[in-house]
Amino acid sequence: MSRSIAVIGAGPSGFYAVDGLVRALPDARIDIIDRLPCPYGLVRYGVAPDHQGTKAVQRQFERLLAKPIVRFIGNVEVGRDVAIADLAALYDALIIATGCSRDRRLGIPGEDLAGVVGSGAFVGWYNGHPDFAELDPLRPDMHTVAVIGAGNVAIDVARVLAKTADEMVKSDIAPHAAAAIAGLDLTEISLVARRGPADANFTGNELAEMSRLAAFQATVQSEVLDGVTAPDSDPAPERMRKAKNLELLRSFAAADTPRRLRFQFWGMPVALHGVDGKVRELELADTRHPERRWRQPADLVVTCIGYDPSPPVGLLLERGHIAHDDGRVRDLPGAYVVGWAKRGPTGVIPTNRADSLALVKVVVDDLAAPPASEKAGPGGLDALLSARGVRIVDSAAWRRIETAENAAGQAEGRPRVKLGTWRLLEQAAHGEP
Ligand SMILES: Cc1cc2nc3c(=O)[nH]c(=O)nc-3n(C[C@H](O)[C@H](O)[C@H](O)COP(=O)(O)OP(=O)(O)OC[C@H]3O[C@@H](n4cnc5c(N)ncnc54)[C@H](O)[C@@H]3O)c2cc1C
Repeated sequence: MSRSIAVIGAGPSGFYAVDGLVRALPDARIDIIDRLPCPYGLVRYGVAPDHQGTKAVQRQFERLLAKPIVRFIGNVEVGRDVAIADLAALYDALIIATGCSRDRRLGIPGEDLAGVVGSGAFVGWYNGHPDFAELDPLRPDMHTVAVIGAGNVAIDVARVLAKTADEMVKSDIAPHAAAAIAGLDLTEISLVARRGPADANFTGNELAEMSRLAAFQATVQSEVLDGVTAPDSDPAPERMRKAKNLELLRSFAAADTPRRLRFQFWGMPVALHGVDGKVRELELADTRHPERRWRQPADLVVTCIGYDPSPPVGLLLERGHIAHDDGRVRDLPGAYVVGWAKRGPTGVIPTNRADSLALVKVVVDDLAAPPASEKAGPGGLDALLSARGVRIVDSAAWRRIETAENAAGQAEGRPRVKLGTWRLLEQAAHGEP
């Protein structure tokens, strides 16, 4: 009997799971369900718009969508349009790949002032995510920015803010974001890290890019680098990454420049201070000597300190991710979890591949046992969604969105111009004027 599997979440971990499933179970029927009308998760809405090479992985996922046993069911939010229990009753197995999308909070006074925004929302805004079309995080009177965090997301945010319109011309940045950023006159972007330079999670290529910006000069206070080396106790690849980072940081000029992108270490945010409800200053404590505090100007604060999962309602959470044993969801038999929903917000796109392929082995082993009853599978989902009046975006409808975006991009010499609102996406998906 052909088995039916629903993969919830069409990001990298969902697609890598589909990849494993089509190989291991060529007779299966696989639905990949996403709340958005567009597939690819954070590859489309997280990866920076000027890093098109990284987004090329979408082509690999696109080939999976073309397989006859795979269907894309977009515009269906599990927990809103269909309950996880409904899906468990319809499919032989569920793979939950819903990622982590809720911005973690700093938990300090002043966090709710205007001008303080989480990176999930900010990155979604500049990447044209329809949930953030109305965010409007920038004001022309903003001159100083504090980006809180010491990883690649912080680097992305700082770089996108620092780049000129010319430097972004080949990107797929959302037009509203490109216009708002071009309207700013920023003089300082600080990247604020709680720990020291040897502990930063930046990768070499991303850090190196900071020295090639047209309008901003990367700087770091040389004292924080004095005598710092990558710890001998680290495994060799990690030691090499840190050593390269330190070398790059040492190469950044400490000179005063009109527009600087400043790497700050050992700074723990303790409060945000505002005027008229808008953030104006960031108060920091020295992580090593917390009694030493200072304030610095910050008209915009973007927090890049990680994300929490937002799993379909009703699933047990444990230490920031869905509770599971070897990928089997603890409180829902027949359900499995992969990717960021399983591990929390760590790991790059390829990390999810190994994780998803290992999970598929577990699913396939479990499915080897004869089923207790025959499940309705994809036909059952279609009937249920149509009875509820949910208008899905299938692969053909998604291709209409993609065609419209690519055509708009071609006219401007850019990879694509994204349709950035729910309404525009819906119109393009269904061929409406
Ligand atoms: C800002 C940012 C930049 C990044 N840049 C890079 C980079 O340059 N290179 C790199 O290798 N990695 C990068 N990463 C990491 C990479 O994006 C992640 O490793 C990867 O996307 C995690 O995959 P995932 O499938 O678990 O989650 P996601 O990619 O988040 O996919 C989850 C999917 O589930 C859907 N979903 C959520 N809830 C529901 C629901 N209830 N019902 C239906 N669907 C739902 C979402 O719409 C989404 O499509 C970046 C991450 C971020 C945040």
